[in-house]
Amino acid sequence: MDAEIIAVGSELLTPLRLDTNSLFLTEKLNSLGIEVRLKTIVGDDRRRLAEVLRAALGRSAIIIVTGGLGPTEDDVTREVFSEVLGRGLREVEEIRRQIEQRFRQIGRKMAAINLKQAQVPVGAEWLENSRGTAPGLWIEHNGAQIILLPGPPRELKPMFEARCVDRLTRIVPQGRLVTRVYKVAGLPESEVDERIAPLYKPYTNPVTTILASPGEIEIHLRATAPNEEEAEKLVAELGRKIEQELGRSIFTSCGETLEAVVGRLLREKGKTLAVAEGSTGGRIAERLTRQPGSSEYFLGGVVCYSHESKAQLAGISPDLIPSEGSVSQPVCRALAEGIRRKTQASLGLAVTGLSGPSGATTEKPLGLIYISLAGEEGSEVREFRFTGERERIQELASQTSLNWVRKKLLQ
Ligand code: AMP
Ligand code: MG
Repeated sequence: MDAEIIAVGSELLTPLRLDTNSLFLTEKLNSLGIEVRLKTIVGDDRRRLAEVLRAALGRSAIIIVTGGLGPTEDDVTREVFSEVLGRGLREVEEIRRQIEQRFRQIGRKMAAINLKQAQVPVGAEWLENSRGTAPGLWIEHNGAQIILLPGPPRELKPMFEARCVDRLTRIVPQGRLVTRVYKVAGLPESEVDERIAPLYKPYTNPVTTILASPGEIEIHLRATAPNEEEAEKLVAELGRKIEQELGRSIFTSCGETLEAVVGRLLREKGKTLAVAEGSTGGRIAERLTRQPGSSEYFLGGVVCYSHESKAQLAGISPDLIPSEGSVSQPVCRALAEGIRRKTQASLGLAVTGLSGPSGATTEKPLGLIYISLAGEEGSEVREFRFTGERERIQELASQTSLNWVRKKLLQ
């Protein structure tokens, strides 16, 4: 059963606001076995919204619309749907009472325009909004399910969970869609694809998609079957082959982030980590601390950007930088050992390098990055030459560092 999503709001056509509702909805729909075939973003524009709706009615069994249900002049979804579907609007007494009560609760006077939200197209059911005044609407029209949800994500999400999920489950044929997300670090996209293409090419179910971002390749397997167990089996069969081929380059088979995996391994092994970051500017620490409970294994670290701070904060010898230069193997190693010593961590990680765009020399080109890992049995430094913009180089450096920690922990 196919669905389409229509996101309404002129702000979504500017660079200032992203349509995140459709991402949430797509994930939920997929887990119910419903494929999203099309997404449209349309401004607060009656004529264009009407065109989009007419086209949707001709092609999709499930049409989910978000936004434009508010009380203001620019919110036109309700009126446009009433017109296009040929269902007049009538006021629902209960919604009116709820809106009035909501305003009494917050002690504010209700503007008359708010009553617009009590208007419901004939034959539509309304969906209570636990976090706002705009109710959602569910309309069955010539066999299509049309679901209108409020734009604010904090209102849309609980409404979809509470009022739509069960009902959609009952409507869709029992088919199930199962997705598995592998993530790979330390290999380029071209190599990943070259190695696994012969494995996935013979399969049309699961469908395989490969997505690359700096330092990370995602492999998505999506299988459909009459029930979840069979869909799982289809995914598992191809999954096993891919796992065999890529081995430890795969850091997760369930979509976890690299920092989550590193955190889990540190906890499992009873190890702690501290960082001294030059060119990554705190990115690694920031990623590690995104994990709830990271204080168990992440002791802390320093962002040592200047020459002086490398000596002051990470405890390296002040003579080292003038003789070796701050982007050098000996300095990077000293930083890793220094931060490990200062914090008493099991592992000390350090990064120093040139992320550009200026500061490069002939001996030290842009993108030159040193990473060092110090542990009980000594320290090691590796040299990398990344290419691209500053942001990308920093991302690659943080990703490569965390992946090294992961591999170290797996040894
Ligand atoms: P509306 O229901 O059109 O009044 O939307 C109210 C607010 O919800 C907008 O100003 C946005 O901040 C937010 N919003 C609307 N549509 C979306 C969307 N598709 N994704 C994320 N936020 C949205
Ligand atoms: Mg709007």
